[in-house]
Amino acid sequence: QAKQKGRNNYQFFTSCMHDAIANRLTLEKYLRKAVELNEMELFYQPKVCLETGRIMGMEALLRWNHPKLKLISPTEFIPIAEETGMILALGEWALVEACRQTKSWQEAGLPFLRVAVNLSPNQFHQPDLPEQIRWILEDTGLDPQWLELEITENILMDKTADTLNTLQQLKSIGVCISLDDFGTGYSSFSYLKGFPIDCLKIDRTFIQDIPRSPKDANIASAMIRLARNLNMIVVAEGVETKEQLAFLQNHQCHVAQGYIFSEPLSVSAFENLIEKGRYRLVKALKEEGQKG
Ligand code: C2E
Ligand code: MG
Ligand code: MG
Ligand code: MG
Repeated sequence: QAKQKGRNNYQFFTSCMHDAIANRLTLEKYLRKAVELNEMELFYQPKVCLETGRIMGMEALLRWNHPKLKLISPTEFIPIAEETGMILALGEWALVEACRQTKSWQEAGLPFLRVAVNLSPNQFHQPDLPEQIRWILEDTGLDPQWLELEITENILMDKTADTLNTLQQLKSIGVCISLDDFGTGYSSFSYLKGFPIDCLKIDRTFIQDIPRSPKDANIASAMIRLARNLNMIVVAEGVETKEQLAFLQNHQCHVAQGYIFSEPLSVSAFENLIEKGRYRLVKALKEEGQKG
């Protein structure tokens, strides 16, 4: 009987595994074609300066519209792209597209904004990354000061000499470097000391329970002070409520990003926001400020 039961469990287990593997292989197969089939799209989420209430930049975030699978989240397909090496083609596409779009907005007379593009570890460790960034900027005509690269702490963990060298080369091109999801990886203060980082992005897990959680509030305010003392721009990710926004303003966080202002938007929706919506952001902030 035990044997019988064991066998059933085993079958149940393999059939689940089979589904998972089949699903993963399907995703992998479709992902391989996604760029050439034009299924990838960049959405843009505004970053808002808390002092002026103005949009000062935006983060470019990949969206994959597969005709059969519908919308697939980057948290699902980026890891697959990373493991299979497809991230190199995908990441290059995102870089070119973000720079091209930003330049085209500038030429259309929209306010000049800085675009942030996420770099995966695999991309970052390509020896020709600085060269690639250089030609993409030249090709699209975007001035380097309008491009920001978001990297995670884990990138800084290994191959220290190469990493420093890459960062210095990127800095000498004139682009900005941000440390994304700060506080969730293998954080070390020596990274902040040793690497040329311009912005620190506080991960949204430290923001989401403010003001209810005194611990998170203390961690967030300490991160803000740390970044400011090191002359870095500090950005809060995942800001959703007025209370969180008020807290960040009171603690002199420079920039905020999150659903309170806007979700990541398609190109046309983002254009609408920067043409018409700037006033609303300023007003929302002013009202907040008056409440204390
Ligand atoms: P990330 O770089 O930390 O991006 C921020 C994520 O938080 C985005 O998820 C964004 O939609 C979400 N978010 C923004 N505001 C809020 C908020 O107020 N509340 C909540 N709950 N979430 C918010 P998304 O677009 O699903 O992207 C997930 C991750 O996928 C990104 O995290 C990034 O690590 C990766 N990713 C996206 N696009 C690219 C890309 O072009 N290249 C690479 N290498 N990675 C990318
Ligand atoms: Mg990011
Ligand atoms: Mg992040
Ligand atoms: Mg994140």
